[in-house]
Amino acid sequence: MSDGRIGFIGLGNMGGPIAANIAAGGHDMIVFDAAGTAARAPDGVAVAASVAEVAAAAETVLLSLPDGPVVAAVVEEIAESNARVTSALVDLSTIGIAAARQVHARLSRADIAYLDAPVSGGTAGASAGTIAVMCGGDAALFERLSPVLSSMSRNLFHVGDTPGQGQAMKLANNFLSATAMAATSEAVAFGVDQGLDMAQMLNVLNASSGQNTATSDKFPNRILPGKYDAGFTNTLLTKDVTLYLENVRAAGTPDTMGAVLTDVWRRFQAAEPGADFTRVYPFVRDRR
Ligand code: NAD
Repeated sequence: MSDGRIGFIGLGNMGGPIAANIAAGGHDMIVFDAAGTAARAPDGVAVAASVAEVAAAAETVLLSLPDGPVVAAVVEEIAESNARVTSALVDLSTIGIAAARQVHARLSRADIAYLDAPVSGGTAGASAGTIAVMCGGDAALFERLSPVLSSMSRNLFHVGDTPGQGQAMKLANNFLSATAMAATSEAVAFGVDQGLDMAQMLNVLNASSGQNTATSDKFPNRILPGKYDAGFTNTLLTKDVTLYLENVRAAGTPDTMGAVLTDVWRRFQAAEPGADFTRVYPFVRDRR
């Protein structure tokens, strides 16, 4: 262990299993979640009563929080905490490029090193230690934090030296993942309307060029059995595709598909706020 005590803030669908893997890796940890820490904390870790208590105890702090405004508020609390010992912060949340740059600027003023490190692979990947971790920031910091990062996943990527580049990678990924879900929902609705069997359609697609993460994972494991339990809300995915579209427009790169896709997810989120994102299939099928 090279970076002292590890703090972890945000023990939700992703943060819970990620923190559990870090603890299982033998790291000394202190954790906090605003919705109640004790019930969400991995076994054997210290439970904090506040963000400030984590900042007073942990040299390295990881965040897994819903969105940019929540991350900014927690970062501010850490940076201004009087008893702070935190000198490095890793943000696993999806917050977009501008928010990551603002976090970087705020942490730099407080002399706290920052790794922008959003993740992909869902709750199953978080539990299995296979999530992709897309790190933007100083390469030496990425190396220094590798003991804790490798305890949460074996798929670590240093994608650039500038915080925000992890976010760019993550937004591109989630645009493709959201496209696969929405487009596969339309294709399956069409096939079922034509008298095809959904299970057989998925077998054919997975042996064909239409194969994607929705046909290989979300449809067979979450939608076909009627479970709709991916553990990722349409609120968070709508945030992601909206950030993608905003960032694409700011960059001036093509946005045709992004605009269409974002409209689908915004309408689904408005109709069923907080639903599991796999419920997009019945939403699309029923033309709501
Ligand atoms: P979640 O809502 O399940 O968990 C977020 C946790 O943060 C909650 O437990 C909440 O109580 C806590 N929290 C909120 N505000 C807080 C505060 N001020 N202080 C302390 N704790 C606070 O969300 P999630 O699905 O775990 O997603 C977390 C992040 O990871 C998001 O940015 C999301 O976009 C991203 N992500 C999620 C998935 C997924 O499959 N769920 C996959 C990849 C990335």
